[in-house]
Amino acid sequence: MAHEPLHTMGQQHGRRSWAEPWKIKMVEPLAVTTRGQREAALAEAGYNTFLLHSEDVYIDLLTDSGTSAMSDRQWAGMMLGDEAYAGSRNFYHLEAAVQRFYGYRHLVPTHQGRGAEHLISRALIRPGDHVPGNMYFTTTRLHQELAGATFHDVIVDEAHDPESLHPFKGNVDLAKLERLVAEVGAEKVPYVSLAGTVNMAGGQPVSMANVRELRAWCEPRGIRVLLDATRMVENALFIQEREEGYAGRTIAEILLEFCSYTDGAWMSSKKDHLVNIGGWLAVNDREVFEELRNLVVVYEGLHTYGGMAGRDMEALAIGIEEAVRDDHVRSRVGQVRYLGELLEEWSIPIVRPIGGHAIFLDARRFYPHLAQDLFPAQTLAAELYLDSGIRSMERGIVSAGRDPVTGDHKRPKLELTRLTIPRRVYTQAHMDVVAESVKACFDARAAAKGLRMVHEPKYLRFFQARFEPIA
Ligand SMILES: *Cc1c(COP(=O)(O)O)cnc(C)c1O
Repeated sequence: MAHEPLHTMGQQHGRRSWAEPWKIKMVEPLAVTTRGQREAALAEAGYNTFLLHSEDVYIDLLTDSGTSAMSDRQWAGMMLGDEAYAGSRNFYHLEAAVQRFYGYRHLVPTHQGRGAEHLISRALIRPGDHVPGNMYFTTTRLHQELAGATFHDVIVDEAHDPESLHPFKGNVDLAKLERLVAEVGAEKVPYVSLAGTVNMAGGQPVSMANVRELRAWCEPRGIRVLLDATRMVENALFIQEREEGYAGRTIAEILLEFCSYTDGAWMSSKKDHLVNIGGWLAVNDREVFEELRNLVVVYEGLHTYGGMAGRDMEALAIGIEEAVRDDHVRSRVGQVRYLGELLEEWSIPIVRPIGGHAIFLDARRFYPHLAQDLFPAQTLAAELYLDSGIRSMERGIVSAGRDPVTGDHKRPKLELTRLTIPRRVYTQAHMDVVAESVKACFDARAAAKGLRMVHEPKYLRFFQARFEPIA
């Protein structure tokens, strides 16, 4: 990678650091707890960070979803909510922002990303269809399956290897796609489900060349390309940094070009768009739009609010514009990278290259003495909380669930603990504290004994499973 390690540049003259393109106007005190309080809180939560009360958490890195800080302009927008049932002024602001920055013709607002996934899956998928995608996302795949499709992962092999330094580990492997379509027939493939910066692979981007080739391959076969644009702004930064010919282009220009190779997108605005709730669906095809407008009134709300209040749409319209600014994206991803580089310097195993929204600790290499059935990533999340009150999330054997046929655990290759960074919320000093706490857990790694699962919910068990420490 071309960039210098950000934290070791102190000795060099003439260095230029990124800095947050904002200053702080309002603060929210953090909870500071003692080790004894954390032990009690974690035992109460069954050693599952999802079951902790947020009041007992110091730095909350559970997710970047809906946890961003809004700007003063967004808060001012909240006061301009036009809460008319139909035709709210704020809807037209939102529509104009999506058209301007994403380039799609028709907009359908939804309450959040999964609302949009539900509508598009219902509109385009027929039972027996096949949907290829660049690795799955939990809610995306579930809605595709509920609509009757079978999901197929067609991401490049490098995405499954935490140590591969491929610059675009989110890319679609066109040979895999070609094999699938040859097998099932193009008429059984309503669309390719393409995600920008692939979350489950560690926040890894898709290249412009890849989406361009994908488009060229799909178009003559009558297969649509639909984009999960949730973290597409962060993807645009990686294109700017890593792809030939894009260094001089703005994030907004890159985003617009990328979207131009797709037929539409769904969006969880709780991520890139700097709001606490919201989402949308946008397409170019008039007929598909008509179908989506029929569905939105059944499941979300009228086609000019889709589950959002007028004030939410105003904050979102402003957030879209703030989200695509180069200095914002550079500092957002820069902060993630700052944390990752500190950990790399201390030889703490993480997924590489460092992604756009989170650091993924590789629990297999962190705790090589723990068998996967002792839940190493869950153990690491628990140890980190005990050490400092920092909350992270398991993305490994617990999240993967059980095989419906054999009843045994699914044992995914990636056994990860995710430190997800909310946008515009924490400072570089918080990142130092996080890195030092991870280091303390790493130094004490030999003492970790793992966990035993004592309560296991039937569906999406990671949310509510309970554990006990192995004595
Ligand atoms: C969060 C997310 C979704 C779902 O969006 P919600 O707003 O949580 O319903 C879909 N795709 C990706 C990649 C996401 O990260």
